Amino acid sequence: MKKIKLKKKVKNFLIISIVIIIGLIFGINKYKEYKYKQTNEYKLTEKGYTLEESKKIIKKLNDKNETYFVENDKNDFLVELISEKYFMEKYLYEYIDYKNDNKKKELNDVVAIVNVRANKEWYDIDTVKPTDLTKGNLILVNKFNYLDKDFEPEAITNINLSYAYDNNRVSKETNDAYVKMASAAKKDGIQLLANSSYRDYEKQEAVYKDYYYSKGITYADKYAARAGYSEHQTGLAIDIFTTGATTKTFETTEAFDWLSKNAYKYGFILRYPKGKEYLTGYEYESWHYRYLGESEATKVFNSGLTYDEYYAYYLE
Ligand SMILES: [Zn+2]
Repeated sequence: MKKIKLKKKVKNFLIISIVIIIGLIFGINKYKEYKYKQTNEYKLTEKGYTLEESKKIIKKLNDKNETYFVENDKNDFLVELISEKYFMEKYLYEYIDYKNDNKKKELNDVVAIVNVRANKEWYDIDTVKPTDLTKGNLILVNKFNYLDKDFEPEAITNINLSYAYDNNRVSKETNDAYVKMASAAKKDGIQLLANSSYRDYEKQEAVYKDYYYSKGITYADKYAARAGYSEHQTGLAIDIFTTGATTKTFETTEAFDWLSKNAYKYGFILRYPKGKEYLTGYEYESWHYRYLGESEATKVFNSGLTYDEYYAYYLE
């Protein structure tokens, strides 16, 4: 009798235990499911993103931005956008707005345009800001970043007349690098001549006004910088020519060819490349070179980016 009772007790105990365990597992799973449904990952899949896409969105965006996409309809190009190499989260909604307004633009272009602020009008009053002078030789001066009227380059130096027309001045470091470059070119049978370099605020103002009063604002803005917005005020920019060359012919010269291959090795980059007018704000200028220093010029050269893009992504 005792044995049977014991067996029954064990049996009951086992049954109850199994029921409890099953109940627990079920409950835990239900709780997990409930918890998962609260996550943005789940909510994004509910909006139509695949699980993989949801994961990517969560990895790339901060909580606030995740929530935005959880609360709004599926954005068809969001995943591609955040996968763009030069995507910057701070411009997320500007990319989206710009793409919506310019549906035919490729996303990499959208990213580049917004990164350099060119989704705004050049010289846009709400966008322009003083150049960050703490960047030294890497300062960015363009149609959104300006120098004060009294900004002057450090240790301004006359460029040696073997490599320049009269009255060309740049910062000492720029001069040293330029002379090194021009003498290396000379050894290769190439003559480089600096034609225009440092221009102070007043001089730039005069250049711009000349265009402005004779040809109007559109023309002036296309071919000259407004005072304070010219890279020539930095003392880090040189317009380089060779004897007989003009702005039209310089790119067909051996000197241009030599610079295209070698300028970065001496710390210079071509500042306004062909086909990038919409990013730099300037027509292609085969003659305008900007000193950055060897290390950074090499990085810019290898990146294939305009300096505006490079600065926005890596230095700002
Ligand atoms: Zn120039």
